[in-house]
Amino acid sequence: MRVVVCYPAPYRVGFSGATVPLLYSLFEAQGVECELAFLDTIPVSLEGKRNLRDFDIIAFTVQYEWEYVNLVKMLLASGIKPTKPRKGPIIVGGGPCITSNPEPLANILDVAVVGDAEEAIPRLCEAAAEGLSGIDSLMGEEGFYFFSEKCRRAVSSEIAEAKLPSVASERIEATVYGRAARVEVVRGCPMLCRYCLIGWTAKPYREKPIEKAISEIREQAESVQAKKAVLIGAGLTFYSRFEEICERIGTLGVEGSMASIRPELINREKLIAMRRLGQKTLTMGVETGSDKLRDAIGRGGSSEDVLAAVQEAVEAGFSKVKVYLLVGLPGEREEDLAETAKLVEEIRRLNVRVQASINPLIPKAHTPSQYWGFIGYREASVRARKLAAMLRKVGVKAAPGISPSEATIQAMLSLGGRELGDMIVKAAEAGRGAGGWRRVLRAYGIKLEEIKPKVDVGEEAPWDRIDVGGTEKLVLKEYYESMNALRT
Ligand code: SF4
Repeated sequence: MRVVVCYPAPYRVGFSGATVPLLYSLFEAQGVECELAFLDTIPVSLEGKRNLRDFDIIAFTVQYEWEYVNLVKMLLASGIKPTKPRKGPIIVGGGPCITSNPEPLANILDVAVVGDAEEAIPRLCEAAAEGLSGIDSLMGEEGFYFFSEKCRRAVSSEIAEAKLPSVASERIEATVYGRAARVEVVRGCPMLCRYCLIGWTAKPYREKPIEKAISEIREQAESVQAKKAVLIGAGLTFYSRFEEICERIGTLGVEGSMASIRPELINREKLIAMRRLGQKTLTMGVETGSDKLRDAIGRGGSSEDVLAAVQEAVEAGFSKVKVYLLVGLPGEREEDLAETAKLVEEIRRLNVRVQASINPLIPKAHTPSQYWGFIGYREASVRARKLAAMLRKVGVKAAPGISPSEATIQAMLSLGGRELGDMIVKAAEAGRGAGGWRRVLRAYGIKLEEIKPKVDVGEEAPWDRIDVGGTEKLVLKEYYESMNALRT
């Protein structure tokens, strides 16, 4: 059996994370022949230069809704009919947004993987070994959704070890992190920020045992002569052996790098450990400067925590802080944007270079944010511009984040249903990113400005058949609490 793992983005992005090596390793462990393909390698695979049509299974991993169109582009470029019914390879898709709401891909994927690949891949290979019709036997099993039945998310108790596939690693220099080991250290997050897909749909929080993580880093670093190790996992600040893993990476003679941290959990020891690894920039999801809105979105912590973390970071030798900011939060007013700008100014006064990234909040299925809805293209543009102008006044230039038009399309796909499938295909045929989408929306008589997806309490949602872990009541309770926080 031959499988191709497809990442619907260019190699530079697709091979930067930990997902592609993980999927490759899981398929290899099943003794199947596995290759990789990216948006810029199609119509052929990276290793054997085989057309995607020549595989038995095409396994897509999708990180953002925006990549749905690229998924279809990869099929079209390989001469594969993007919609069902069709003959040829079985087309499977998984990843965080498919786990939360696979419905927009109902007429494209043969089966959606809901949950962890560690659980799904062995069973997928076993079923496919019985002939491709064997895949149907997975219907009703945890983790496999055939778009007509109820489905429970599959959860793995462990994070599997991933090796870097050798052919793909030959060009590793060209990835976002360059010549680096990339190791998933934690999965899920113990928190439940009310807008976060990871918090709500990747429970429970799991840690890779430190020995396993270190041996994976060592092995990957040796295989690509890496000078750096990238630690991956949204809940990384919670890692129980955070300082120790930093220290041990140091003894391997490589530098370390990690994504965003939670300000209220950072302390001097952690910061010193990060500095020892060569990290000079502290990256934080600050989201807002308004404590009231922070409460409403369930982010926890306060502006004071943010400032205290930056102060500690400066003392530990950090020279740059990168802050992620959101616009379009529930109940947000102009004063809240001003508070955010004030907080950023206060950070800058602590003698660090500040880089800010402004992004519109994109509501996600299976989180309380589904009830807040999306503020719409116009408001997202106005608020992002206002906040950027306020930041300029305090001497901070905001780097462009997700554009308001892209955020609008993502919100539509995030909270949308199977009626969007044809539009996704048309957008892939049209090409040209947001411009292509605008043309398609026009053809369907939809104005970008009118797209404000939202679920009303009690209303049926496209993802109702997906059970990510018995969270429905809690989602509703947390939504009401977010509304209460806005009233107080
Ligand atoms: S702390 Fe970060 S990863 Fe965890 S739930 Fe909140 S936003 Fe998500």
